[in-house]
Amino acid sequence: MNVKENYTNISKNLTKHHNTELTSNEPRVIAVTKYVTIERAQSAYDAGIRDFGENRIEGFLEKKKALPEDSVMHFIGSLQSRKVKEVINDVDYLHALDRKSLAKEIEKRADDVVKCFVQVNVSGEASKHGLELDAVEDFIKMLGDYSKIEVVGLMTMAPYTDDEAELKEIFSKLRHKRDEIKALGLAHAPCTELSMGMSNDYMIATEEGATYVRIGTSLVGKEE
Ligand SMILES: *Cc1c(COP(=O)(O)O)cnc(C)c1O
Repeated sequence: MNVKENYTNISKNLTKHHNTELTSNEPRVIAVTKYVTIERAQSAYDAGIRDFGENRIEGFLEKKKALPEDSVMHFIGSLQSRKVKEVINDVDYLHALDRKSLAKEIEKRADDVVKCFVQVNVSGEASKHGLELDAVEDFIKMLGDYSKIEVVGLMTMAPYTDDEAELKEIFSKLRHKRDEIKALGLAHAPCTELSMGMSNDYMIATEEGATYVRIGTSLVGKEE
């Protein structure tokens, strides 16, 4: 496992698949370190990566503590409301805001405004978290009542499939929804970002305008 080499390959793919008509910049790479040790996460840092994603509180806090201070920490997993207080003030970006009860708890526990992605279940798979596409606009309007929440964008997890047409459709639907929300011009919801694409599908997500890709396995591997 050579993280630097993996990162070089991924960067080449991002350049190749980047659609300049949809986004001016290539997506930022979030190294998802949930399967790996601190040492492996550090080697991603050494390769030049500054964004890190974890989906569990313990792993998140451990990596945050170990990584250099200029690391940007993304919480990418679903967060139980009663655990918000354990982590929220260490989070730079929360990728899985998907319900009012979570927003309420953030409002109560956060010291400052938290940059949030609203998670959308575009595919409708029962196993996935997130709002249905049709519910996104009302949910985000409602979030205007919460002074500690800034909606920076939308996030989705696509199904694990090789069906490129299906993946393209999912990512493009999320982008269109992002464009609709952005056009509302809500002060609390600039909604410029799109967090989509993982090891299996990040090239397609990039073609469809992702601004953040979340890559674990093909970047830092999987230990254990
Ligand atoms: C684990 C995870 C990823 C990364 O998955 P890989 O397939 O290992 O790249 C991305 N996003 C979320 C929300 C995850 O939980």
